[in-house]
Amino acid sequence: MKKIAVIGCGAAGMMAALAAAESSSSVTIFEKNSKPGKKIYITGKGRCNVTNACSVEDFFSYVKRNPRFLYSAIYDFDNTAVMDFFEKNGCHLKTERGDRVFPVSDHSSDIINTLYRAVTKAGVNVLFNTTVYSVESMGGKVSAVVYENDGEPVTREEFDSVIVCTGGVSYPSTGSTGDGYKFAKELGHTVVTPLPSLVPFETKESWCKDLQGLSLRNVGLKLFLEKNDDAQKKTDETKNKKKKSKPVYEGFGEMLFTHFGISGPLVLTASCHYEKNMQGKVFIDLKPALTEEQLDKRVLRDFEEGLNKSFKNILGGLFPSKLIPVMIELSGIDPEKKVNEVTREERSNFVKLIKNLPLTITGTRSFNEAIITRGGVSVKEINPSTMESKLVEGLYFAGEVIDVDTETGGFNLQVAWSTGHLAGVSASAAF
Ligand SMILES: Cc1cc2nc3c(=O)[nH]c(=O)nc-3n(C[C@H](O)[C@H](O)[C@H](O)COP(=O)(O)OP(=O)(O)OC[C@H]3O[C@@H](n4cnc5c(N)ncnc54)[C@H](O)[C@@H]3O)c2cc1C
Repeated sequence: MKKIAVIGCGAAGMMAALAAAESSSSVTIFEKNSKPGKKIYITGKGRCNVTNACSVEDFFSYVKRNPRFLYSAIYDFDNTAVMDFFEKNGCHLKTERGDRVFPVSDHSSDIINTLYRAVTKAGVNVLFNTTVYSVESMGGKVSAVVYENDGEPVTREEFDSVIVCTGGVSYPSTGSTGDGYKFAKELGHTVVTPLPSLVPFETKESWCKDLQGLSLRNVGLKLFLEKNDDAQKKTDETKNKKKKSKPVYEGFGEMLFTHFGISGPLVLTASCHYEKNMQGKVFIDLKPALTEEQLDKRVLRDFEEGLNKSFKNILGGLFPSKLIPVMIELSGIDPEKKVNEVTREERSNFVKLIKNLPLTITGTRSFNEAIITRGGVSVKEINPSTMESKLVEGLYFAGEVIDVDTETGGFNLQVAWSTGHLAGVSASAAF
């Protein structure tokens, strides 16, 4: 019987262990926490968006980096297979807006319990409070795992295969502290620099702080990136005269102002298109349902209805009250000015501002606030058909530790389920 070690009892680790045990291997999971799935517990605001019910073909368009690497894993164990697994094991699911799939109970703990029950039923040995320090290899083949179990002396145990499912480095309090990157590097792998993704933006504009807590639904957002380098900028300016720059992301939804900048689902999705070494600019469309012309008519109507009112007193129908002082300030129009004195040019610029509220991105928040880590073990050194290392025989990777990341919507967990399943089956099959 083949002896397999799985490092990490998260989504990828449990799925890998289950698949390997069901393929007749003897499996041990090493988990530094005292319980399984600590990160799964906080997913989907405690409801766990377990997968997405989109078509498999559509799935790949939500994968931001290295979608092609995932073809075998996804076709081997797709979203339907994941949903079948949970349904068959008594955890009923429902599909919500955007094809997002959740447990009917709205409790992520039901996902963890269902999976963990299946893992133990399949005979997997799970060691909690156990930290793996290193993975050893000999003659190009994985040989052993060195670990410490709950204050016991450090132990070295031999295994035929090791599946690294240690996650990324985001929300490190859940146990994902980047240990897998260290193991991979020590065994000769390249690790693409880990960066926070699905993460809020920090902005230069200090007025965001004044709007802290203000959530805006149904707004549009465009993210533009420009090269930072001045010399390059000049070349770009010449080019841009001919060609208008395109947003790297354009979306619609809900956002939130915070003391440091902007957050909320729309901003998190935009963040996976952001490049740290480039100058980021966001434009918020506060009235995406109206064209500039329609909005101008609407503003003009408001002006006509309140002819003798001052500018500051006719904006209540356009914006939430918290936003009014900021919009007045940015418009440059005297708040006391009677609306019948506002010039056509001032009104036109005001309409443009409503359609393109500008924000300068100075960076992202840290890993502590990032839903996922982008970067990780390079896919060039992993066989996509098996998840086995191309450098060390018997070494496998699954889940967020790999350089693959997706948008929000249940896709990141699907990556963990699919790569975990493929790694487990492959590790068991290889002899
Ligand atoms: C707040 C939040 C909400 C999210 N919501 C969703 C969502 O709704 N839908 C979705 O698809 N994705 C969501 N994600 C992303 C998703 O949770 C992750 O992509 C996924 O859990 C990654 O699974 P994993 O098994 O690869 O890694 P992890 O879940 O991070 O598991 C890694 C495990 O390895 C253990 N470990 C690490 N190093 C060692 C070591 N040296 N020894 C022993 N054990 C070790 C850790 O303790 C941990 O338990 C969310 C993430 C966050 C932070």
